[in-house]
Amino acid sequence: MINSSDTIAAIATASGEGALAVVRLSGPGVFGIASQVLKERAGTPPLTSTPRLARLVQVLDEEGTSFEQAVATLYPGPHSYTGDDVLEISVHGGSMAPRAALEQCLRRGARLAMPGEFTLRAFLAGRIDLAQAEAVIDVIQAQTKAGLRLAHRQMEGTLSTRVEPIRAIVIGALAEVEASVDFPDDVVEPDRTLLFESLEEAMRMAVEMAVESRAGRIYRDGIRLVIMGRPNVGKSSLLNALLREARAIVTPIPGTTRDTIEETLDIGGVPVQAVDTAGLRDTLDPVESIGVERALTSIRSADIRLLVLDQSEPLSEEDWKAFEATYGEATLIVLNKSDLPSAWSCNTRDDRLIVDGKVIALASWPAPPETVEAAAALDEGIDRVEQAILRTVFGGRIVPADSLAGGGMRQSIALEHAAASLRHASATVQSGEPIDLVSVDLHGALQSLGEITGQTAPEDLLHEIFGRFCIGK
Ligand code: GDP
Repeated sequence: MINSSDTIAAIATASGEGALAVVRLSGPGVFGIASQVLKERAGTPPLTSTPRLARLVQVLDEEGTSFEQAVATLYPGPHSYTGDDVLEISVHGGSMAPRAALEQCLRRGARLAMPGEFTLRAFLAGRIDLAQAEAVIDVIQAQTKAGLRLAHRQMEGTLSTRVEPIRAIVIGALAEVEASVDFPDDVVEPDRTLLFESLEEAMRMAVEMAVESRAGRIYRDGIRLVIMGRPNVGKSSLLNALLREARAIVTPIPGTTRDTIEETLDIGGVPVQAVDTAGLRDTLDPVESIGVERALTSIRSADIRLLVLDQSEPLSEEDWKAFEATYGEATLIVLNKSDLPSAWSCNTRDDRLIVDGKVIALASWPAPPETVEAAAALDEGIDRVEQAILRTVFGGRIVPADSLAGGGMRQSIALEHAAASLRHASATVQSGEPIDLVSVDLHGALQSLGEITGQTAPEDLLHEIFGRFCIGK
């Protein structure tokens, strides 16, 4: 059970040495705790009488002895982050000052907050909806500026605002249908053509938002790209050129192995974790074969594959091996060393890719792979490679982050469910079947839409979502 009636406290800043750390409290006991733990300078009004004002205070231990100087700010409810009384104590950073200040608050009756509990309270108090609450995590975890702006817009409520008109249509339709079912003598059955049109409109809006949420997910979670090809085709040169062009993102990535090089890049706002693999040669050397096995795993688990070929040299068996490893996967082909005379040609005709005279059906890949010429060592064509990466990621058309309202796996699934219910409802309306059959689908659509903003979110979903937060948020 969610308990939101006691007073919670936590250190809201990351651990480690820093200039400042913040201890945050929320709940009905905040004023009482503030007056016991904090002492204002002699002759100044008490902190509790000066809400929303940053005040210089002493932090006291259980004997009333000051051990730290801090700046405290009180935010009385309901106009606070959580809707309850909130206190923020800015102490010096490091580990002792915040821990000692927190300990005093706990001694005076506060309870240590669970991860995300401050934001959960904000949600339960109706200060923000669920989509906005989730955007708080996205802001904290954003890896690119585009991802940050997207999360910020979702936190401001853009996603929720876009869901509202869909809900309004569904509620309107449901009211009409149920009135005619419940009071058949007084209320005529709704006009099926008009009802069909409005449900189709709602469905189109839901589908569009689901597509956007998927695109938003790419900006938020990023993608994994693997650079593959035989040795010497220019894979490292390409990764280096992308690094120069795209700016590396500094994130600690676990799992970097000896035989793969991983970098996280910001390509057009999408966090791209790029992996340079070892070649795929047949080998009897056990160490090398582990490398090949790892490379194959990376190739399979990546979202897209950048197959690098050296167009200045005849294609070798190893090149073809790499080629075949891309079948069935989203792929982009980079024809490298375009500054040198080409030894073979590559072009697309009808539904075939013709590489050095060999014909490959484009159906070998989920979508026809783009081919891009580049000279990685000379930094030529790198912007084309980037654009092609983005097109491949977004399935053909680059969706700019600025046009999106927000995004996440949960939202896109809920929107797809809503769209499916609406599609079913409008088909029922059109089929001439009894109108009351539509009700079930409309209730289903409302349930899915409500999960986005949290009107109909079950408690275990809340636990799952807020459990992903850090403590103190
Ligand atoms: P990898 O083994 O696939 O990672 O290949 P490298 O990036 O180490 O490159 C192999 C060799 O090809 C190096 O000598 C590079 O300088 C050279 N190289 C890479 N890209 C180009 C290019 O676009 N043009 C030319 N002329 N040489 C290149």
